[in-house]
Amino acid sequence: MSERFDIVVAGAGMVGACAALSLARSGFRIALVEPVPIGIESLENGAVYAERVSAISPVSEQILTRLGVWSGLDQSRLCRYDQMFIWHENGDAIIRFDSFEIARENLGTIIENQQILRALRMACESQSEIEWFEPDAIVSIAENSHSVVSLELKSGVTLDAELLLVADGRNSSTRDLAGLKAVHQNYDQIAIIANVATENTHQYTAWQRFLGSGPLAMLPLANGDSSIVWSCDTVLGHELLDMDDDLFCSALSRAFEYRLGEVKSIGRRLGFPLGWHSCDQWLRDRILLIGDAAHGVHPLAGQGVNLGFSDVDLLTRLIGGLDNPWHRPRLRQFERQRKSETAIATHLFSGLKWLYGTDKYGINRVRNLGMHAVQASPWCRRVLIKQAIRNMA
Ligand SMILES: Cc1cc2nc3c(=O)[nH]c(=O)nc-3n(C[C@H](O)[C@H](O)[C@H](O)COP(=O)(O)OP(=O)(O)OC[C@H]3O[C@@H](n4cnc5c(N)ncnc54)[C@H](O)[C@@H]3O)c2cc1C
Repeated sequence: MSERFDIVVAGAGMVGACAALSLARSGFRIALVEPVPIGIESLENGAVYAERVSAISPVSEQILTRLGVWSGLDQSRLCRYDQMFIWHENGDAIIRFDSFEIARENLGTIIENQQILRALRMACESQSEIEWFEPDAIVSIAENSHSVVSLELKSGVTLDAELLLVADGRNSSTRDLAGLKAVHQNYDQIAIIANVATENTHQYTAWQRFLGSGPLAMLPLANGDSSIVWSCDTVLGHELLDMDDDLFCSALSRAFEYRLGEVKSIGRRLGFPLGWHSCDQWLRDRILLIGDAAHGVHPLAGQGVNLGFSDVDLLTRLIGGLDNPWHRPRLRQFERQRKSETAIATHLFSGLKWLYGTDKYGINRVRNLGMHAVQASPWCRRVLIKQAIRNMA
């Protein structure tokens, strides 16, 4: 006996939960399948800020506001930043972006991932059109483009749907089950993340210093601390992860040129392997990839989940309100449009990683001159910053 839904969403991460909510609000009956049982209680704010944070763009803020999710966030833990400050270890150029130059109050907001997840899950749980299958996972997919896609879950339950949305992250096993291939490019780098207290205040600025070994970002947190994302070669990364706290704080202060004075203390450090990935095909018959299951970019520009929220937004605009979510021309339009937008982002960030990571003398000089030119041109800065925070009207 199978249960019938309009859409099955595989993965209740930030993008999957957002998709389920947005499409349920458009009138579809949704099944949300998630293997990891994450209770709301485990997502409650702790006294200590969580290490995993995201820079959420104003466009994503608008999307979450329209869904009524933004107001469910603990506003006292959100940190808006109105400046970005970028410099390179080799060269004297500095680029400074200010929100007032584009007539905005801020350039983005730093939020703990678990807060976003919590607000999304609470909104999903109060939506009667969404049924949860958790903990559970899809173990087989039988597709028939003329009728429905039939999914067998680990629990033995069978689900039939008009459309399967695959949102189970970069190592998506549902994507593999569906036979949709991803190309992964490993950078042989890791990103170390941690929360730190610094001598001087963060000034509501997102700081980024490019080092030969990779970018080092300090993002402001609402309690006055900063969240670091230190991307570097894997060997150096493991040495940094293994250092004791005092040594690490000294290395970090030096690497950051003491811009915020000494780093006084540090919380737990976590390491994430870095790379990008993309898929040639996002849509096959009744199966569609979104979020990190479809695309993955370097975190240097803080765009991964923002791209995922934009997937959700476009998909909802294209199929929301239809009688049947499986509208092939609209799904193809979604695939074309988002594939080209995310491909630009993926290759732009890879290009920036290369440009800022190289220490060849000629390139150093050109890069430094280019950065001076950007800083000297308000027009250029406006174009770049609008591109960086995407689609700001
Ligand atoms: C160090 C670092 C810093 C970052 N900073 C930023 C930032 O500042 N701004 C930004 O926009 N992005 C940032 N990102 C990227 C961002 O974290 C990801 O793009 C985002 O988490 C992707 O969300 P998702 O829901 O697509 O996938 P995930 O977050 O990976 O969620 C996938 C979900 O699917 C579930 N799942 C797994 N297997 C299955 C299965 N078989 N069936 C069903 N469900 C399954 C998982 O349990 C999970 O709940 C950063 C990434 C890193 C590594």
